[in-house]
Amino acid sequence: MGKALIIGCGGVASVAIHKCCQNSGVFEEICIASRTKSKCDALKEKLSGGKTKITTAQVDANSVDELTALINQVKPDVVLNLALPYQDLTIMEACLAAKVNYVDTANYEPEDTAKFEYSWQWAYRKKFEDAGITALLGSGFDPGVTGVFSAYAQKHYFDEINYIDILDCNAGDHGYPFATNFNPEINIREVSAKGSYWEDGHWVETEPMEIKRVYNFPEIGDKDMYLLHHEELESLALNIKGIKRIRFFMTFGQSYLTHLKCLEDVGMTSIEPIEFQGQQIVPLQFLKAVLPDPSSLGPRTKGKTNIGCIFQGKKDGKDKTYYVYNVCDHQECYKEVGSQAVAYTTGVPAMIGAMMLMTGVWNKPGVHNIEEFDPDPFMDALNKWGLPWKESFSPELVD
Ligand code: NDP
Repeated sequence: MGKALIIGCGGVASVAIHKCCQNSGVFEEICIASRTKSKCDALKEKLSGGKTKITTAQVDANSVDELTALINQVKPDVVLNLALPYQDLTIMEACLAAKVNYVDTANYEPEDTAKFEYSWQWAYRKKFEDAGITALLGSGFDPGVTGVFSAYAQKHYFDEINYIDILDCNAGDHGYPFATNFNPEINIREVSAKGSYWEDGHWVETEPMEIKRVYNFPEIGDKDMYLLHHEELESLALNIKGIKRIRFFMTFGQSYLTHLKCLEDVGMTSIEPIEFQGQQIVPLQFLKAVLPDPSSLGPRTKGKTNIGCIFQGKKDGKDKTYYVYNVCDHQECYKEVGSQAVAYTTGVPAMIGAMMLMTGVWNKPGVHNIEEFDPDPFMDALNKWGLPWKESFSPELVD
């Protein structure tokens, strides 16, 4: 049916590419392009023999010119950005120049400032609309499926949603004292930032990991979870009717937190460059280089993830509560695509988002967050492509 250009060939991209190849009726052809072409070639080799035609290319995704030339050469129906958040704007610029639809899984971050907001990407709304192309922002799990869950709850179960708690639990054990489940640099920037939540029309800021709760996750049990700032809070606060408060909680084990604190205390998580043996290095980038590569965690990670949203609001004048979540097993993901569940739960929705634009099921020129689209076809696709969801109308609440 069409062709996708996938930029990046790391943990998340590997899952999305496996899934595109399973879905060859839609993804007749894909081009995998990344900084290190040998990784693209190795994955192509592994997946060859299927119905999806695969080509590979080398690209520096910081260069709009290189990207534009590649897009014009490949002529894809959609560009799926699975590189790092630093490359979002250059890839969006190239999509504009070549007039091709765009999908990503994380909002733009400038490399030298830990600032998580959509303003830079939302600034492209009119340009994309005028060009008649769609940018779908945040098509991973969180952001991504959490926005689809919110749109689904709003469409089917509520007249107004007043409270959303997004709960992200990873109960997987990889056996290392400290490792991250996706790109270590991006992960550590996110979790060491100040926390915040949206309440009564404004942000409430907290110290990192200041607010802790224990939640009894279905199919997992009690876990400590901590309030974090997370990018989808910003768009959901705008797009969901009647919102009074949105919070995001993520679980962390004690070993992860203790190591993170020690690394922070000695300056290893800093993004300020330092002089080292005659050259400038960024401590966090050095730390990334010595930590286990998240894509190597697949064979050793055991246990499950549970990510979902609890909604509280009103339907026909009555109070209503609704919890929708997905449970994913690390080892089942590994058996299927050779990756752990954190990459899997991001790569599957990335493939689905690209499919929604490629098939024209979603078509809304401009720059849009995922909850702005009809959630129903995406919810069906989650069940079909490996992330089935479950519902409860009387869940345990966070407070
Ligand atoms: P990885 O570090 O494993 O992969 C990133 C890939 O991008 C690598 O292949 C890397 O190349 C490539 N890349 C980096 N810089 C460039 C560049 N300048 N030009 C071309 N290619 C480049 O990251 P992950 O797979 O863990 O994460 C990918 C994305 O997914 C991130 O944006 C992350 O924030 C997001 N994410 C979203 C989640 C969600 O639920 N929404 C959850 C988890 C992650 P090389 O191999 O040379 O390093």
